[in-house]
Amino acid sequence: MRSKNKTLQRKLDNLFSVYIRILHADLNGYVKCISCGKLLHFSKIDCGHFVNRNCKNETLRFSPKNCFPQCRHCNFYYEGNPAGYALEIIEKFGLEHLKSLFLTQSTSFSFSDSEYKILLRYYNQEIYNHILKTDFRNKKEITDYVSNIEKRLSLK
Ligand SMILES: [Zn+2]
Repeated sequence: MRSKNKTLQRKLDNLFSVYIRILHADLNGYVKCISCGKLLHFSKIDCGHFVNRNCKNETLRFSPKNCFPQCRHCNFYYEGNPAGYALEIIEKFGLEHLKSLFLTQSTSFSFSDSEYKILLRYYNQEIYNHILKTDFRNKKEITDYVSNIEKRLSLK
């Protein structure tokens, strides 16, 4: 059954986006657009989905193998720049992974509210784990950014 709790979904969308952008950031806090390669600060880029996040299978909405930093130009004005995105997915994980994304998108799956809450706690912790183990030059700036998002999403 599809979850009706849009608030939890929106919170997880936001938090997961922070996770993906920080996960791929270099030590200066910059990330490359998966589709066009443009380098941008992690706070000025989106989390772009290869298979659309509104597909039938919600695992793809929150999968680090379907979601990567993507510039707003590619994400919105270039319809996700799928050709560049597909090439990078094949380069990173192989053609089989690309095929499995296509197969997964047509099977139905939704998270329950309690699973959303578990995922929110999980990604919140993973963000801090990643910040802790990475030698970011601007660690405080990144931590402050995360802290503001947590407040905005009422996670604290
Ligand atoms: Zn781009």
